Amino acid sequence: HASNLQGYAPICLGLEDFYIRRLYLRIQDCFGRPICSPPDAWFDVVERVSNDNNKTLKRTTKVSRCLNLGSYNYLGFAASDEYCTPRVIESLKKYSASTCSPRVDGGTTSIHMELEECVANFVGKPAAIVTGMGYVTNSAILPVLIGKGGLIISDSLNHNSIVNGARGSGATIRVFQHNTPSHLEKVLREHIAEGQPRTHRPWKKIIVIVEGIYSMEGELCQLPEIVTICKKYKAYVYLDEAHSIGAVGKTGRGVCELLGVDTADVDIMMGTFTKSFGSCGGYIAGSKELIEYLKYTCPAHLYATSISPPAAQQIISAIQVILGEDGSSRGAQKLARIRENSNFFRSELQKMGFEVLGDNDSPVMPIMLYNPAKIPAFSRECLRQNVAVVTVAFPATPLLLARARICISAAHSREDLNKALEVISRVGDLIGIKYFPAEPQKQ
Ligand code: PMP
Repeated sequence: HASNLQGYAPICLGLEDFYIRRLYLRIQDCFGRPICSPPDAWFDVVERVSNDNNKTLKRTTKVSRCLNLGSYNYLGFAASDEYCTPRVIESLKKYSASTCSPRVDGGTTSIHMELEECVANFVGKPAAIVTGMGYVTNSAILPVLIGKGGLIISDSLNHNSIVNGARGSGATIRVFQHNTPSHLEKVLREHIAEGQPRTHRPWKKIIVIVEGIYSMEGELCQLPEIVTICKKYKAYVYLDEAHSIGAVGKTGRGVCELLGVDTADVDIMMGTFTKSFGSCGGYIAGSKELIEYLKYTCPAHLYATSISPPAAQQIISAIQVILGEDGSSRGAQKLARIRENSNFFRSELQKMGFEVLGDNDSPVMPIMLYNPAKIPAFSRECLRQNVAVVTVAFPATPLLLARARICISAAHSREDLNKALEVISRVGDLIGIKYFPAEPQKQ
């Protein structure tokens, strides 16, 4: 079957790429010589993006315009925007593309100061610190927050940046069953007694780490229950809102707003700007003391070049739009749109008979493929019909739980979504992934 690989390869948008490439290399290794040229699709290059969340992929053989169902562009800010773009251009002229310096060595512009204040206000915490990359926010800040003698209790499906940060910290790591508060409590009880004061227990510090929306599952965190348990056992809560900040909640303030959790009960709020805000970088928001401590100790603050000023300006402007501070109602409309789009798309897929993971209101919706052999067929067939979808497999998911991961955007029109549903339905019939009976169509 090796030659089929050339015809069926996923587009280069996710970890499945790694999986297929490794498979290809193994087969090649078995034969002791190249048996076909590597699947071209790994090298798809995005030529341009447009405001309606389409993208043009330059493929080895042809250039095609695709409907993008793979990007984290939740609010549609990852394209030119009438409010954000002129301000970003202005900041580029004023401060250039890079500060070429860490924050403490002349890499702090007035935009950086404004951004940290703006982020703290937006997420509902007294202060915030910003870094140039979301991944690094977790992987570099966790080792500063906790070390040897500390205990990290991490959701089993937390992102790789959290896993790496936790490992690098030297703290003891325990994992609890994904999004299962009762199991979190069991793990806590195995390590400390309920109500034991922080000073009387064998751990210098205990941090429980969860995500707002799980990026491979589309699920919302069971945050209210988790916060209650952490209070009971006096553990700190670390919440990664990469996929939820800006995307959910009445005013886009993430899962705390959506689920009615007081932000005072979440000690460390982490998030990235690469999704809802159409920019790059990450943040930690917390108490003034915590943020001051990080500013003096975090290597990503002390030794890494600060976030690019135009990227920082993009975030400030996007938040202003979300909050209606641009004088328009576009932000509120975007938030209503992403919610409607997500709930519409999820329920239509379910009606067709697909198994879709995740919760209502979540813009992330994995369609289960299960069999890893179906991954390339699914993504290639969708792409052939100009719908770009990310497929995900081992090691990002267990081997037999392969899935296609759809990300819905406020930039998708109903027409886009209907077109995508038609394509996915056809491909679903073709490769046999409708596991439930379809609901009868209403006359
Ligand atoms: N945390 C989570 C939960 C993520 O899903 C990601 C990446 N998608 C990151 C952190 C890293 O963020 P970035 O891509 O902005 O570096």
